[in-house]
Amino acid sequence: MMTWETVIGLEVHVELATKTKMFCGCSAAFGGAPNTHCCPVCMGLPGSLPVINGEAVRLAIRAALVLGCRITENTRFDRKNYFYPDLPKAYQISQLYSPLGRDGALVIDLGEAGKKTVRIHEIHMEEDAGKLIHAADRPETYADFNRCGVPLIEIVSEPDFRTAEEVSAYLMRLCDMFRYADISDCKMQEGSLRADVNISVRPMGEDCLGTRTELKNLNSFKAIERAIAYESARQIRVIEQGGVVEQETRRWDDVAGVSLGMRSKENAQDYRYFPEPDLPPLRISAETVEELRASLPEFAHERVERFGREYGISAYDAGVLCAARSFADLFEATVRTGADAKSCANWMLGPVRKRLNDVGASEASIRLSPAAFAALIERVAEKRINRAAAITLLEELLLSEQGMGADIDALIAERGLAQISDGGAVAQAVEDVFARNPAAIADYRAGKKRAEGFLIGQTMKAMGGRADPAAVKTAVGEALRRLLEDK
Ligand code: ADP
Ligand code: MG
Ligand code: ZN
Repeated sequence: MMTWETVIGLEVHVELATKTKMFCGCSAAFGGAPNTHCCPVCMGLPGSLPVINGEAVRLAIRAALVLGCRITENTRFDRKNYFYPDLPKAYQISQLYSPLGRDGALVIDLGEAGKKTVRIHEIHMEEDAGKLIHAADRPETYADFNRCGVPLIEIVSEPDFRTAEEVSAYLMRLCDMFRYADISDCKMQEGSLRADVNISVRPMGEDCLGTRTELKNLNSFKAIERAIAYESARQIRVIEQGGVVEQETRRWDDVAGVSLGMRSKENAQDYRYFPEPDLPPLRISAETVEELRASLPEFAHERVERFGREYGISAYDAGVLCAARSFADLFEATVRTGADAKSCANWMLGPVRKRLNDVGASEASIRLSPAAFAALIERVAEKRINRAAAITLLEELLLSEQGMGADIDALIAERGLAQISDGGAVAQAVEDVFARNPAAIADYRAGKKRAEGFLIGQTMKAMGGRADPAAVKTAVGEALRRLLEDK
């Protein structure tokens, strides 16, 4: 039996997070009523002229720098001609001859298997095409041109991947870094990140590359993983049966779980590329590059390591804290205001995360100010307020504008939330609860230890939820022990 190696190279398209399109002032926002984000430029009407979106170029340069590319000093756009109903201009403005960036690398983390460097061949700027919507019940197709002209970058890797896990790790790292740097929201389900997967197989140990096929229409990590498994098995079968793999573009059908031939692979000649005559070349100065390099943030994976070093937070917890930049920012700002790092992390990973999940809100919608958050954490530590009352306050303030300037001490006073730490008051409440619940006392005497929890709960309730739970637990426990000794 021959053993085979799968070789994979990726072409990843990422929509840039600009307000407006690449060459006109139309909105680049996702969705919208069909054909409402359009103008003569992005519709390719005769006589209209494109103007380069400076913000898109800056984001593209930042992306190239994130991927360690050399920036091309004199870059320009080329016209790629093809006819398709989602492209009213019948050409796409792209870059062929002098792409924005070249020769980059991305280090990916494969867990137990260590780290691996994936080489980036190039990154270039282009514009997106529209969308075709096929009616489910009629033989009709509708065109929505809102997406025409949305700024895109294409990132072409070298064929350095060998497994689906490596591909996933690469895409995840790419998403993490682009989101942190506000380059793109990288939402696969909205198409702001799309990957075409090139696959070939070769006998293990062979140096030459096999003939590749290119898979399109991969809309999720799961689909990519399944498509890679299917397509490499298909190619091996073709070769083992004495056939040859055709170089072609194939469509992945995720429902059927198969790849289907779409068209033979097109060449650059097929597109009749030529320098875009409506746009000037772009000179990118070294100062601009250095300015943009300096504007890149500390990335999630770097931050996770630092949180471990600086605050002693486990890699797993730091990973959750750093998944969204604003979440990690809140953590650090709160700690800087004086909160204890460990308790702050516990509050964020516990009650804060739970609240976000419960109401389906994102980290970015948090309004609670670091100062108010730190005060809340501190009051619990000082036993000025108990944990349950603090969680109630937290849930109220977390996502509301009120959370921004909240005065925690004033709220505790106003709501009467201050913890009752007066031992006499606790003892009195325990006595009252015991007197009112003879059945529970009898249960306890009969060996039903669960009755203790019930009595603790009743005492907390009798004190309006404001007692220190630890003090109540001790008081109830001691009272029960005295009862048993007395009998
Ligand atoms: P094209 O421009 O015609 O699409 P490229 O040479 O630019 O072709 O390669 C496109 C992508 O295919 C790159 O990501 C590259 O790494 C990958 N690739 C090229 N040859 C192979 C191969 N034999 N097996 C797997 N991937 C490949
Ligand atoms: Mg290509
Ligand atoms: Zn427009």
